[in-house]
Amino acid sequence: MISGSVHSWDLSIGVDGPGTRLVLFTAGCPLRCQYCENPDTWYRRNGVLTSVEDVMEKVRRYRRLFDVTGGGVTISGGEPLLQAQFTAEVLAACAAEGIHTALDTSGFLGCHATDEMLADVGLVLLDIKSWNPATYRRVTGRELVPTLAFAERLARLARPTWIRFVLVPGLTDAQDDVEGLAGFVATLPNVERVDVVAYHRFGVPKYEALGLPYRLEGTPEPTEEQLATARRAFADRGLVVT
Ligand code: SF4
Repeated sequence: MISGSVHSWDLSIGVDGPGTRLVLFTAGCPLRCQYCENPDTWYRRNGVLTSVEDVMEKVRRYRRLFDVTGGGVTISGGEPLLQAQFTAEVLAACAAEGIHTALDTSGFLGCHATDEMLADVGLVLLDIKSWNPATYRRVTGRELVPTLAFAERLARLARPTWIRFVLVPGLTDAQDDVEGLAGFVATLPNVERVDVVAYHRFGVPKYEALGLPYRLEGTPEPTEEQLATARRAFADRGLVVT
């Protein structure tokens, strides 16, 4: 069994998949999102080399909690598909033991995921950061196309998917872009839910600690009204929105 670079672990309820989730954060990400709240996960060297067996030993301790709450394991990051083989082996090991799995990804490296790997994923949490290619590049430093291609592939494979979209005033909230994204997501029959997430500044102290510039300095968090407008764009197309 191979090892992967694991940044950290967390327990969460509600946002990272159904039930109580044991979240494994992998280290390393090819994107540099302006609002990233975990810049400490950007490099693989920031993680601890951990074998799949060690991961499973920890996962098994939560087995009863998963059974009671309908939860499971979520692999997040960083970007889990940067270590695609490790991620695939953890997913396969969980699936073999009947543990529900979720994969939290930007989709940028979707081509690293094999169909076999995706068959072991109970739920994909796909973060689409903008519908507008120029805005996507501005937010992430990368191109939008791979993420959209991955979203369409997940639809073809009928993999259950939740879409996540972070609303940042003045950056991702242009009405045309939000409507465009909602229109695209509405064409994907495998999407069970859309999470419109309010931009927040929780990560700022990490940038200060790492000596990194925080590029959204001065950007306000969205108002309830701005969030409601964005959510309506998805809901009006028949999507389940939170
Ligand atoms: S994809 Fe996620 S981990 Fe990577 S930079 Fe963006 S927000 Fe941060």
